[in-house]
Amino acid sequence: MSITEPINLLGLGAAELTDLVGQWGGKPFRAKQLQRWIHQRGVDSFDDMTDLAREFRAQLAEHCSIQASPVSIEQRSADGTRKWLFDVGKNNAIETVFIPEDDRGTLCISSQAGCTVACPFCSTGYQGFNRNLTTAEIIGQLWHARRVLQDDIQGSRIGAADAQTPEATRVISNVVMMGMGEPLLNYDQVLGALRLMLDDNAYGLSRRRVTVSTSGVVPMMDRLGRDCPVALAVSLHAPNDALRDRLVPLNRKHPLSELLAACNRYLEHAPRDFITFEYIMLDGVNDTDQHARELITIAQQVRCKFNLIPFNPFPQSGLKRSPAARVRLFAQRLMDAGIVTTVRKTRGDDIAAACGQLAGDVQDRTRINQRLPDRAIIEIKQERG
Ligand code: SAH
Ligand code: SF4
Repeated sequence: MSITEPINLLGLGAAELTDLVGQWGGKPFRAKQLQRWIHQRGVDSFDDMTDLAREFRAQLAEHCSIQASPVSIEQRSADGTRKWLFDVGKNNAIETVFIPEDDRGTLCISSQAGCTVACPFCSTGYQGFNRNLTTAEIIGQLWHARRVLQDDIQGSRIGAADAQTPEATRVISNVVMMGMGEPLLNYDQVLGALRLMLDDNAYGLSRRRVTVSTSGVVPMMDRLGRDCPVALAVSLHAPNDALRDRLVPLNRKHPLSELLAACNRYLEHAPRDFITFEYIMLDGVNDTDQHARELITIAQQVRCKFNLIPFNPFPQSGLKRSPAARVRLFAQRLMDAGIVTTVRKTRGDDIAAACGQLAGDVQDRTRINQRLPDRAIIEIKQERG
């Protein structure tokens, strides 16, 4: 029996897998086969990999594993949104959310347990920073969600119909790194996961369908542009440094002028010809006509689209969501200036929609027990020994 920890193959990129297989005398195409079994067919038992030689499977079983983090809670919202809470050890939990829409299915994944940036409107920020996730833990969220959603489709084919979610939208067509954590402060592990998302032998997603969202880690935006230019969303949230210093504290290190310059450099590599600016709508804080005017000046400096995000309140924040009429008017001001602007639909409201909120709840078990039964959810709690 092996005394060393098994190697979790979920986190290995194509080159690392080829090296590993090569150590046992295997040809590179064996690594590709293995990669397809793991990521495309979602298999976690080497015995099931029927076109691999028996001896090779035995070697794999002895030295390796295929393991995502265990799921501690799974929730389903009335609107088809699904959420998984993964246990990443030492009382840390991370969240993954699947959002089905008419023409696509988007999976929102986490990059860190907690976050150092500590934005005052963000529940993850309130949890402090616990640790970076590994590539296996990041890609494990996609691996797990795909397995579950595919099982659902198979289930509905044999009759267990799920009226809430049409089959076509259950598949994951897009991945956004908008869950817990700042992806560009966990650069190497996130890069490994992004490369697997794009790899034709793994998830085969196009660069345009993978989005990294950042609060503005300028040097790492440049690296991402060079290493793996996927679609980029930037959490702007404020149109001037004084306000952004408060709402996104990282602004004190990388102020707006630097951030906007980095956006323009990124556009030289980006798969889309615009940056998406995310802008959270906070009542009386950043949602006045004056703020809209300042934003229009910013939009003249970078090719961009705006995504206005109605704030999801949570108790400690002391902040309020802008009224719907204010959000509409704010969007109109931007659109009148020729800026493409969308307002994010609030999805899965009944399951603590904004990433980080469920994990925050679970830190206080008493509260979750009091609150969850009121919500229209199907919840599966797994007993873990
Ligand atoms: N750290 C990265 C990615 C994760 S946060 C970033 O900040 O971009 C992803 C998005 O979630 C951010 O744009 C942020 O605006 C949004 N978000 C955080 N807390 C929220 C809340 N309480 N309500 C609505 N959106 C929130
Ligand atoms: Fe971190 Fe993003 Fe939350 Fe800010 S919004 S605390 S950067 S996860």
